[in-house]
Amino acid sequence: MVIRMRHTRAHTKNRRSHHALKAPNLATCANCGATHRPHHMCLECGFYNGRQVMDLKAKKESREARLQAKREAISAQAAQIDPTEADSVAEAPAPEAIDEPKREEQK
Ligand SMILES: [Zn+2]
Repeated sequence: MVIRMRHTRAHTKNRRSHHALKAPNLATCANCGATHRPHHMCLECGFYNGRQVMDLKAKKESREARLQAKREAISAQAAQIDPTEADSVAEAPAPEAIDEPKREEQK
């Protein structure tokens, strides 16, 4: 950077005086009392403007069921792979052991 382009400290601080972050405006839900973004659906109960626009409870339950099925599938897969993977891990050298000879070659 050329000195001609450099701003004074005062110039920099004057510019940055407008960079402060503001706390977000939050409204309280009329249905459950939780805070939510104004003009947005309440993320706790799914209400907007006095009526339910999204069934968050059903959505959460379906998501939990999907995640549980995924976890079970992964654990079942890991149980099948484990005996063979344990042998390959024992045969392969540790990553630290691989790194050390390379560093010596570079020197
Ligand atoms: Zn609510």
